[in-house]
Amino acid sequence: MKKLALHWQILIGMFLGIIYGLLASNAGLQAFTSDWISPFGTIFINMLKMIAVPLVLISLINGVSGLKDISQLSSMGGKTIGIYLVTTVIAVSIGLVAVNLIQPGKSFSKETRDQMVVENQQKASQVEQSANAQKESGPLQFLVDMVPSNIFDSASDNGNMLQVIFFALLFGIALIMVPDPTKVEGIKNFFDGANEVILKMVDIIMLYAPIGVFALLGNIMVDLAGDNPAAAAEILKGLAVYAITVIIGLAVMIFAVYPLFLKFYAKFSYRKFFEGLAPAQLLAFSTSSSAATLPLTMERCEEKLGVSNKVASFVLPLGATINMDGTSCYQAIAAVFIAQVYGMDLGLSAQLTIVMTATLASIGSAAVPGAGIIMLAIVLGAVGVPLEGISLIFAVDRPLDMCRTVVNVTGDATVATIVAYTEGELNPNPIEK
Ligand code: ASP
Repeated sequence: MKKLALHWQILIGMFLGIIYGLLASNAGLQAFTSDWISPFGTIFINMLKMIAVPLVLISLINGVSGLKDISQLSSMGGKTIGIYLVTTVIAVSIGLVAVNLIQPGKSFSKETRDQMVVENQQKASQVEQSANAQKESGPLQFLVDMVPSNIFDSASDNGNMLQVIFFALLFGIALIMVPDPTKVEGIKNFFDGANEVILKMVDIIMLYAPIGVFALLGNIMVDLAGDNPAAAAEILKGLAVYAITVIIGLAVMIFAVYPLFLKFYAKFSYRKFFEGLAPAQLLAFSTSSSAATLPLTMERCEEKLGVSNKVASFVLPLGATINMDGTSCYQAIAAVFIAQVYGMDLGLSAQLTIVMTATLASIGSAAVPGAGIIMLAIVLGAVGVPLEGISLIFAVDRPLDMCRTVVNVTGDATVATIVAYTEGELNPNPIEK
């Protein structure tokens, strides 16, 4: 029997998870779900995180050691960062156009606003504290943070990707600079072989994907419905226009901006792109984390889209960390929405400030669930919108996080395809390993 394609397996898991979650929240199975279903989702996320650091380390060293010379690395690096910035600014601008046209905050009643602010006071102040901690560092702190003092520390806990990238780049560069290449032949072969093993491990982990996403989505649905599904539905109704505005902004990125970029800069058919990347997009939706999705994004880009290991191993981990088009688009919409609810009119200069701060805030957002809303506090602060306004959007943040993470991952894969094409590193007939 032919095996069901991965994206179908994941879709079925998601669908069953949603159905289960709806039934369970109506049947009062909240405790059962958190005791007996949710752990299977956590196991899945743990496995993905477990593989991410060794994958990036080994695959990047392997990629760099195969470069002709170091100048290829700087051309690739400059191009990657340049396109990442351009797509992020486009995403923020699309968000601003959508929110100014639709004006989701204008119809929001003052009573609901005040009630929500009071109800979510505690959560909002937690976000504010986390955002303040980020803001207090000096202007060059981001550079300092990239350089690890202890590589084992960088690899531990949640893994500091930029530091792992820094170490792997340095190691790979040193590997090609060793004067007598015969001495490092063994090391190169080791990383080449280890890379194959890690990719196989990703395949094995993916066998568990349908169960993992079932558990993740079942649990999310139960959480969203809370103890009182009727009240939850009421809140969602009030925020529907805002949520739709965010979804429209994200949809423009997925269905217009990326296809155009792929067509013009990589001569790549969007259909083929979509077919290859779909499982990673579905996983991004289920996990709300670009970092957890990274192993699958890398595998799909290499094996289905034909991006070389050299390009994928450099562009994708960097993108998962700094390129968040979905997050930046959402932050722009959320900031203006909150301003509208408070009756503030943001002029052109405030909107330009949003373009700048949302771009920076999305670069600074961690690739984990809920990171975008923390950095939103910085955007709000920059344009003088009350921070307590964050209270208004908590209720719908998780589903929107799921959607923006899909855009984040799609953006990374788009740029990887373009960089690969322009560097002559795109194989039209990729080999599946
Ligand atoms: N969850 C997003 C990501 O991992 C970040 C965000 O919260 O916007 O890509």
